[in-house]
Amino acid sequence: MKRDIYIGLGSNMGFKRRNIETAIDNIEKIPGVDLVKKSSLYETDPWGKTDQDKFLNQVIMIETALGADELLDYLLEIEIKMGRQRLEKWGPRVIDLDILLYGNQVIQTDRLRVPHPHMRERLFVLIPLQEIGTDLRFPEDGITIEEVLSRVLARDGNTDIRKI
Ligand code: ADP
Ligand code: MG
Repeated sequence: MKRDIYIGLGSNMGFKRRNIETAIDNIEKIPGVDLVKKSSLYETDPWGKTDQDKFLNQVIMIETALGADELLDYLLEIEIKMGRQRLEKWGPRVIDLDILLYGNQVIQTDRLRVPHPHMRERLFVLIPLQEIGTDLRFPEDGITIEEVLSRVLARDGNTDIRKI
């Protein structure tokens, strides 16, 4: 069965735009993966650990019959191939690939949590996600992305993400 899967991409080291493009090229080459949609690129201020360079972020939608675990293996392989080293939590990275939503599935294992645990708080995920998945809902409680996004915007405003 094919499901709609949303992947978040982020880069804040080196040639960020090229890193995101290379990662998308590599994702398209995963056997059995079809790229369906791409959001705009967004420049965003760092989150969590704020003394680092700005990020570029993008969200894509793919379709695949691959299982979530298998897809994660491919994404981690791409991160490693592109030179990602995990030096510190939330530190600078050449590329970060996160499975945001995997159809309607809720997954909680040691290595995989879907929907991605922090995504309800992160404008750099919610804004590009809503751009390409307007009617999406969170599988745990059925709340729409639109509603989550407007709550976060009402609370925090939006000063730290710009469409480019
Ligand atoms: P973050 O993306 O939160 O900054 P990292 O990219 O450093 O953190 O963490 C990568 C690890 O997170 C992976 O090895 C993977 O096992 C785990 N992980 C848990 N849930 C997900 C998910 N939905 N997508 C990608 N990785 C995930
Ligand atoms: Mg990650």
